[in-house]
Amino acid sequence: MKIVLATGNKGKLREFNQMCQDEVISFSKLLGDLEIVEDGDSFKANALIKARTIYNKLGEDYIVVSDDSGISVPLLGGEPGIYSARYAGEGASDRDNLYKLIDEVKAKGVDKTPAYYTASIAIVSKYGEYSVHGWMYGDIISRPIGENGFGYDPIFIPSGYQQTLGELDEDVKKSISHRSKALQLAKPIIEMLRKN
Ligand code: IMP
Repeated sequence: MKIVLATGNKGKLREFNQMCQDEVISFSKLLGDLEIVEDGDSFKANALIKARTIYNKLGEDYIVVSDDSGISVPLLGGEPGIYSARYAGEGASDRDNLYKLIDEVKAKGVDKTPAYYTASIAIVSKYGEYSVHGWMYGDIISRPIGENGFGYDPIFIPSGYQQTLGELDEDVKKSISHRSKALQLAKPIIEMLRKN
């Protein structure tokens, strides 16, 4: 069975491919552009919506893996959370969203505040549906530093580090990220499904 990743996000695809020994194909290679309405009320619900939609189009020869992720800031009541990809509005760029979050944090009168990333990975195949989660805790700051990673990485300092994910090596992020933690849990499930 082939493993398909239900994301068009190049940053995520790169991270998944680095973390998986197996070749992971993006769904867009098989299905082209496809608008999926993520109207769930949690990371888990949205990840399942994406994986189910792609699985229903591709069929039983595929194991579809999807990831829904985002950053939550307790000071902002958990925002942007599941709205991380469209925090600055529908069609907003990563940069728009980053600066919107910086503005919201500054409006609270702070330069640094706790935050965490969540990744929910859903796996859908003919054997059923699974979901796992991973988290990465740290702080966000009100000034972007560094070019590495994507999205909110230039303002996120992981717990135990002094630099943002924009500055830290991609290997460091790989070893501590919400997505790699979730993927560690997802891997044995994917392996089991492939062997079935
Ligand atoms: P999704 O594609 O609907 O899961 O949206 C995830 C959004 O959350 C992305 O567009 C980023 O803004 C943000 N995000 C998720 N994971 C990361 C990460 O590892 N680094 C930076 N931003 C992330």
